[in-house]
Amino acid sequence: MTCFYAHKMGFKTVVLSDIADAPATFVTNQTIIADYSDKDALKKFAQMIDIATFEFENIPLEAVSFLAQHVEVCPNAEVLKITQHRVLEKDFLNSIGAKTADYATSNFEENLKKFGKAILKTATMGYDGKGQFVLKAGDSLPELGSSPWILEKFCPFDSEISVMVVRSKTGEIKAYEPLTNIHKNGILDESHYPAKVSDSLKIKAQNLAKNIAEKIGLIGVLAVEMFVIGDELLVNELAPRPHNSGHFSMDAAVTSQFEQLIRAITGLPLGSTEFHSTGYMKNLIGDEVNNLEEFYKNPNAKIHLYGKAEAKAGRKMGHVNILE
Ligand code: ADP
Ligand code: MG
Repeated sequence: MTCFYAHKMGFKTVVLSDIADAPATFVTNQTIIADYSDKDALKKFAQMIDIATFEFENIPLEAVSFLAQHVEVCPNAEVLKITQHRVLEKDFLNSIGAKTADYATSNFEENLKKFGKAILKTATMGYDGKGQFVLKAGDSLPELGSSPWILEKFCPFDSEISVMVVRSKTGEIKAYEPLTNIHKNGILDESHYPAKVSDSLKIKAQNLAKNIAEKIGLIGVLAVEMFVIGDELLVNELAPRPHNSGHFSMDAAVTSQFEQLIRAITGLPLGSTEFHSTGYMKNLIGDEVNNLEEFYKNPNAKIHLYGKAEAKAGRKMGHVNILE
């Protein structure tokens, strides 16, 4: 989707992917298929482009650090390093005064007793609720192996919201209004605009997201996922890239999150983050992609399909923006 918008704005794109039929390869000017550790491929990629960005934070940090020696990468490797590790991310957030759930990185049994109810998560490589175990005091822990884990206190939140914030290399910064996110089995199912929170909380959430973007030194777009508990906000996760909950901006906002990313990293002025329509984004997960009739019948539903080869259970195959 970033490639679509880059193309519309007159830029050419090159996609580096380790999967031959990755959706982005269908909509880019050129493609390099290579392992992310392939230094020759990374060098060749760097020579073909003026600026690099990423749309998935589970790419090896070493690949991005190496690439950054040859071409400008936005967001930078430091932003990626923090956001691809749940412990570094929570340490960073707390260091700048943003609140998170209580967490522990060792003595899990003891801390589980202290928390009562908690979620054990792999510290790296998790997404869509993968690598997570909900536990209560007394439960036995799963086999942990050698990878790092984090134990987070379970937050009995009222709702979940997220804010997309965009910061340009010129320092210009803007935040979209929050959306309310509804998860099913740990996977985002729907994002609703406007968020079902008070106006003052909306502003608080936008300011929180802007502060995080400034402090982390973001150039690009960043999703800030938050738990709402009364009038308090706890930051759950950061994603330094276009985010699923930002997809509603494609059809309902003056400027989509993808266009903002291109503007931010090329130093163009940012577009308006205003939403001109209310409604919601519905993910098409697994088989849901085979039942599009109701959406095609709705003239205010905008369907986006990704062209992924197989509709496996739990896989995001596309999304629909429904304007109300
Ligand atoms: P992922 O990287 O898979 O998106 P998240 O940390 O965002 O991982 O967790 C997925 C979902 O699980 C969250 O959106 C939320 O619904 C639930 N969740 C995660 N952490 C907690 C927590 N500490 N307390 C309560 N619910 C949580
Ligand atoms: Mg998440």
